[in-house]
Amino acid sequence: KPVTGQHKLVDNDELVVASGFVKESCISRYQYSSYHKNKPYKPSSYLITKLRSYEKLHTRCGPQSLHYRKTIRKLSRINHVKDSDTIPCKYLVWTPANGLGNRMVSMASAFLYSVLENRVFLVEFEAEMDCLFCEPFPNSTWLLPKNFPHKNHWSQLPAFRKNRVNSEEDGFSPSFVHLDLQHGHGDHNLRQFHCNETLFTLGKIPVLILISDQYFAPYLFMSSTFKQEINKMFHEKAAVFHHLGHYLFNPSNEAWGLITRFYEAYLANADEKIGLQIRVYPHQKVPSQNIMSQILSCTLTHNILPSLDSPNSPLRNTTSKSKAVLVASLSPDFAEGLKSLYWTRPTMNGDVIGVYQPSHEEYQKFGDNMHNMKAWAEIYLLSLCDVLVTSPVSTFGYVAQSLGGLKPWIMVRLGNNEHPNSACKRGFSMEPCLHVAPQYDCKGGSKITNISKLNPHLSACEDVWWGVKLN
Ligand code: GDP
Repeated sequence: KPVTGQHKLVDNDELVVASGFVKESCISRYQYSSYHKNKPYKPSSYLITKLRSYEKLHTRCGPQSLHYRKTIRKLSRINHVKDSDTIPCKYLVWTPANGLGNRMVSMASAFLYSVLENRVFLVEFEAEMDCLFCEPFPNSTWLLPKNFPHKNHWSQLPAFRKNRVNSEEDGFSPSFVHLDLQHGHGDHNLRQFHCNETLFTLGKIPVLILISDQYFAPYLFMSSTFKQEINKMFHEKAAVFHHLGHYLFNPSNEAWGLITRFYEAYLANADEKIGLQIRVYPHQKVPSQNIMSQILSCTLTHNILPSLDSPNSPLRNTTSKSKAVLVASLSPDFAEGLKSLYWTRPTMNGDVIGVYQPSHEEYQKFGDNMHNMKAWAEIYLLSLCDVLVTSPVSTFGYVAQSLGGLKPWIMVRLGNNEHPNSACKRGFSMEPCLHVAPQYDCKGGSKITNISKLNPHLSACEDVWWGVKLN
């Protein structure tokens, strides 16, 4: 096994397969590596050690345990705990905001924070999130129990605001605190999240109820509190979500069925699989035709798809390659457009192009389990491609690229490609972009002008100049 620094690199299977799982309950856990072949990123043995010890904590303190019942009963009776109290089990409850991609990037960040803080990580999944993922931790559950105190009233709990908690008294902390790290109203919390003072105040709170739609993991890499530990866990900073994502998000048997049936039917036999993720936001008033020409200009300029010949040119020889194009989009227009182009005209090099789109849901739906199941299956299918073209700013695309270990071709703002050569550009890392970066240093003074001073592995994102990402 290869070695980096003091920590061995281990096989990907060791990441996802802990003892204590029933194989039939989550087939993807045992089959995923045969679909994700030739992926060069391997987790470190230290990451595996941390995850195995987190699993022990989760069994000891998770729902169904004696510790859980005792701790939660006690905390629900008292509003505050003394800073000097030792709480045997602390919790982080993740609550949902926005679409599936947003949810997955924030869950991965929240889980990493939980591991670093020895907090038990619980998720509030309503029916719309049912059965998308397998249980990640053996002999326990990550699902928030239905009778958890204050459930359905999170926003009435004391709120964390700029290094302080509303209702905090000296030497005491509230037992339950609502932490908003959403883009928009949670920006001021996010921008200070890496500061020791923030982490210290949060560390004293027994139960954190988190709402976030951001990939805030980069903040943990900026903090001097966690820097050393986290550096040992991840020797490749571009593969943080890649490992956390494969660990946490194993497709349920139902989702795995959608993924593998589509894959075997349309993608498996192609010489090359190309994923196109076309996310058009409702506020973008760009004609489909402009987006279509941008897709063509990106894929043709960078030889992702072959150029087209005139309709009546002679047939080429048969040493051609077959390419399968997987289109993920809410709209059917782009897959239909491509399919028709490559049917009505031959390719210059004789390559044969198949275009496939699993679904076209028309608009983003909330509260719909099958809609989320399809979204998850499509994210995963994109991750199984050899080449990826993604839409800017989209967390849907971020999750696909990170799980796939792929540096995507990122389209510039859709429909705005005045210059054909700049319809898209190559991403420099497969990590998701964090859209809310720190602005001032933790001492409250100087403006941060060079983000890499906080961690040399951080740079501005390709698609969002004010965002930051690991590489
Ligand atoms: P973002 O808004 O692009 O950052 O991605 P999110 O995943 O957070 O939210 C978009 C949501 O819209 C997804 O979760 C899906 O529910 C839906 N959606 C957007 N694009 C697609 C797509 O290509 N396929 C499917 N099935 N759903 C999509």
